[in-house]
Amino acid sequence: MLIAEVNGERCKATKGAKGICPYCKSEVIAKCGEHKIAHWAHKSRKVCDTWHDKETEWHLMWKNYFPESWQEIIKYDQTTGEKHIADVCTEKGFTLEFQHSAIKPEERRSREAFYRNMNWVVDCTRCKNDFKRFIKNIDSSSIARAIFPIRIPSLNNMQIGNIIEVYYPEDIFQKSWLDSSVPVIFDFKGLNQLDNTNDIRNFIFCLLPLNVNSKRYVIQISISNFVANAKTGSWEIFVNNQTDILKQFIENQKRVIQQYGTRNTRHRIMLS
Ligand SMILES: [Zn+2]
Repeated sequence: MLIAEVNGERCKATKGAKGICPYCKSEVIAKCGEHKIAHWAHKSRKVCDTWHDKETEWHLMWKNYFPESWQEIIKYDQTTGEKHIADVCTEKGFTLEFQHSAIKPEERRSREAFYRNMNWVVDCTRCKNDFKRFIKNIDSSSIARAIFPIRIPSLNNMQIGNIIEVYYPEDIFQKSWLDSSVPVIFDFKGLNQLDNTNDIRNFIFCLLPLNVNSKRYVIQISISNFVANAKTGSWEIFVNNQTDILKQFIENQKRVIQQYGTRNTRHRIMLS
């Protein structure tokens, strides 16, 4: 973890420091090596929040992209008394959960129900096949095609990403995430240093919870743009807006198909 209580204050780990875990109130000690991100570890081995994924350098890196005051926020459910640590939670209550390990569907669902306003960020560097499968299929036009460029009007209409329509999502992403009820962000870069700025792993791919005849929609945006927008709070608004735009787009498509269908039926009636 990145934050512990020291004399009642939220504190980052510094060499030799001791603190208290804000969640379970047991003792934690600072781990400040040369190569790893400074963090706190429970003095005795214990499972703290039962939902907590075994914390890796990848988790620490992602949490550190965001302001300290948003990191590791304890969230309560007033009615059930349940409490959990959100990896990152904004002042407005938007939660990001960073998931490295595989997660059981029941646990995924209960976390989505608990946080509600959340996105997952999934480490796709844990299984080597994830990126192989992704790169093999994402460019193939029969499986995925870009339908809208994402532009920022205030920056000379600069294009910062794409919305991609995906026909066989199971050929591109880990199957276990396809049923999620919230947006799922796939990170293929992880801790890798990429020399080529055009490397596709510099982008995150955000699968939206919209399913139309098994077609799915994915936002492709650079990691730096994602982090910058998430930090100002505009990512959450952006994802919701894009979802609304897509719903409209899908409705229009349906209408066109229906009109075409009606015209054909009318034509057939006239002929018979
Ligand atoms: Zn603890």
